[in-house]
Amino acid sequence: MEENKLLLGKKVAKQIYANQIEEISNLKLKNIVPQLAVLLVGDNSASEIYVKSKIKIFKKYNCLSKTYKLQKDSTTSRVVELINKLNNQKDVHGILVQLPLPNDIDESFVLNSIDPCKDVDGFHPFNLGLLMSGSPSFIPCTPLGIIKMLEFYKVNTYGKNVVIVGRSNIVGKPIAMLLAQKFEIGNSTVTICHSATKNLRNFTVQADILIVAIGSPNFINSDMVKSRAVIIDVGINRVNDESSAKGYKIIGDVDFNSVIEKVDKITPVPGGVGPMTISMLLFNTISSARKLNS
Ligand code: NDP
Repeated sequence: MEENKLLLGKKVAKQIYANQIEEISNLKLKNIVPQLAVLLVGDNSASEIYVKSKIKIFKKYNCLSKTYKLQKDSTTSRVVELINKLNNQKDVHGILVQLPLPNDIDESFVLNSIDPCKDVDGFHPFNLGLLMSGSPSFIPCTPLGIIKMLEFYKVNTYGKNVVIVGRSNIVGKPIAMLLAQKFEIGNSTVTICHSATKNLRNFTVQADILIVAIGSPNFINSDMVKSRAVIIDVGINRVNDESSAKGYKIIGDVDFNSVIEKVDKITPVPGGVGPMTISMLLFNTISSARKLNS
């Protein structure tokens, strides 16, 4: 394996955590401990695993997090009632609603009820609007993590052709908006592809930087990428693997073994974008604690 081709989120996240330690100590001097409230509705096992890993990091860095578990048959108004309470709680600096919510709950109504000043996931329309206008406040964690990783590895984005496969509100759209902005890590020419894109390959082979977030294991192969491209694989897919003790393994949306020879840089899965997403949640919560107390 060509180690020098790997964009290691774990390594970047480590540096980000190191930078946050001083910030946490400064807040502590003012008796402020960054606190995240996590709302977990229903019993989705994948969501529980994600929440556990988020909480673990908060504990590790002496920040607080509290999980509020609500029954799967909770109503939208019950969830919003809890959010309103947390909006008014001074010691809570970040509110995160773990998605997906059960079908009967109105997801956008719930997300829109979070105080934009505590919206550490950056999904509130107010924060998305700020991002769109080029003056972002809270940026969704995965896109922000990708930007920090490009910055760390000094990937030049200026004037580059960036192709993003996937247009979700949490990954595809915000990363497209960020890279199209007149920012230091930005100034790219961005194309967004999705399930209605015809001849996807025609677009992906043009990409100097290809970002894939679709949730389809090994979907992108060597034939679909440009030589010397930088590949950001956001996908997290659990596939059966009898050789593993767990019986499964996690792979990305890009067929790593097929493209590794051809590309300049690539994020591995696991160990690429995933660790960045979690580190950005801590980063956003700390910055919220600072802003709310300034
Ligand atoms: P969504 O399901 O919300 O969106 C998937 C997007 O991919 C949609 O826009 C869809 O198009 C598009 N798409 C699906 N199939 C194809 C295809 N064959 N060709 C082109 N486009 C396609 O997913 P998310 O954005 O939430 O997540 C995507 C992946 O990233 C998942 O594997 C998820 O687990 C992972 N993820 C990883 C994170 C991390 O930290 N590493 C964080 C968040 C997500 P359309 O809009 O037309 O339906």
